Amino acid sequence: MKVLVIGGGAAGFFAALSVKQHHPDAEVTILEKSTKFLAKVKISGGGRCNVCNATFNNRILAEKYPRGEKFLRQAFEQFNAKDTFDWFESRGVALKTYPDNCVFPVANDSQVIIDCFLREAKKTAINLITQQGVEKIEEWREGFRVYTKTDIFEADKLIITTGGHPKKSGFHWIENLGISIVDPVPSLFSFNIEDESLHQLMGNVIENASAKIEGQKLKGIGPILVTHWGLSGPAILQLSAWGARLLEAKNYNFNILVNWLGQQSEIELQSNFKQFILRGENKQIQNFCPFPFTNRFWIYLLHKLGIPLTLKWKELQGKYLNKLINGLINDVFVVTGKTTFKEEFVTAGGIQLSEIDYKTMESKQIKGIYFAGEIMDIDGITGGFNFQAAWTTGFIAGKLG
Ligand SMILES: Cc1cc2nc3c(=O)[nH]c(=O)nc-3n(C[C@H](O)[C@H](O)[C@H](O)COP(=O)(O)OP(=O)(O)OC[C@H]3O[C@@H](n4cnc5c(N)ncnc54)[C@H](O)[C@@H]3O)c2cc1C
Repeated sequence: MKVLVIGGGAAGFFAALSVKQHHPDAEVTILEKSTKFLAKVKISGGGRCNVCNATFNNRILAEKYPRGEKFLRQAFEQFNAKDTFDWFESRGVALKTYPDNCVFPVANDSQVIIDCFLREAKKTAINLITQQGVEKIEEWREGFRVYTKTDIFEADKLIITTGGHPKKSGFHWIENLGISIVDPVPSLFSFNIEDESLHQLMGNVIENASAKIEGQKLKGIGPILVTHWGLSGPAILQLSAWGARLLEAKNYNFNILVNWLGQQSEIELQSNFKQFILRGENKQIQNFCPFPFTNRFWIYLLHKLGIPLTLKWKELQGKYLNKLINGLINDVFVVTGKTTFKEEFVTAGGIQLSEIDYKTMESKQIKGIYFAGEIMDIDGITGGFNFQAAWTTGFIAGKLG
């Protein structure tokens, strides 16, 4: 049996190795468009590769995917986060789980993941070919013919793992097969906010915050990072993922409400304020901050809310008290655009999931074609979830039915 894996990224390698595990006699080839395999793995997680997330309950794990939750909940029954752990550790890659459940190689270097894949590919005699971008697929006899600019490849089975694409046109050679594509939109981006005084706080991190889109239920929880163009950090990226389609429809112009105290409610905060006023007493409000903020951030917030810096804590009541409470848990920012690093971190959209069998990753339209990774309409929030989807779908696709 000849198997062609199209796309030499995370999902492609995992799928190819899974083919060799389940069908040792298969002849497996990975075709890669660029000059390098696994380029995204290399730059992932700031060069450290956040391999997966130590969430070992499949239902909770699936909840981390704005698109693909139901599909993956079932797929995780075949290969989940624990399986990822075991897969890498049994192949000599030691992994470490951090307090936020993110899992990285102990070596803190994505290269160890790449080396592992290349070593395993060599051991199992997988053919690796670069600079072959697939442009057309044709059903031919019992299998397929695959066309690149310079060559034609033949195979009995195809696993397509070419990743996301920012434009629908990037999927034309797959659409030509009669397979439906959900329009791609960016996910995981930061928010542009035109506020010079905010920009000056670049680098400030408010560890325990949350953000929501005004008028919506969508919420991002976790650290917020101030950048020189607006706000970023896990809570913002999460919100961008959950709101990917909605925010695109709004042309990235919307308001967000930030709770600088995480999930604290107005009632909780109000009752805590009695103690703050007692503790601050005669101190000027600018000189005593009972919250985990830097002094610069605290002054920024007081300025923004129009609270006199010299006001004493014991004088804090009425209008100013209300303004402060509201500003701490419902701070409004006008977002006027998005910023992505390099390319979009991930794209939402891709092969429509209703056309893929979740048990096998096989196309329901064309038997013998399988999909894995970001090419599918699946994407997760940050924290190792996107690679987990690539490993899970790659592993299942490699079983070939
Ligand atoms: C900067 C950055 C950091 C990230 N960090 C993390 C992280 O730490 N943890 C995490 O879980 N996720 C992370 N992600 C997301 C993660 O990298 C992707 O979800 C994952 O790489 C998807 O794997 P894939 O194999 O489906 O696609 P890709 O990794 O994109 O691989 C697809 C491959 O197919 C090739 N290809 C494309 N078209 C063709 C064609 N026509 N013919 C042949 N080959 C083709 C491409 O050149 C590429 O090599 C990060 C993403 C970025 C951009």
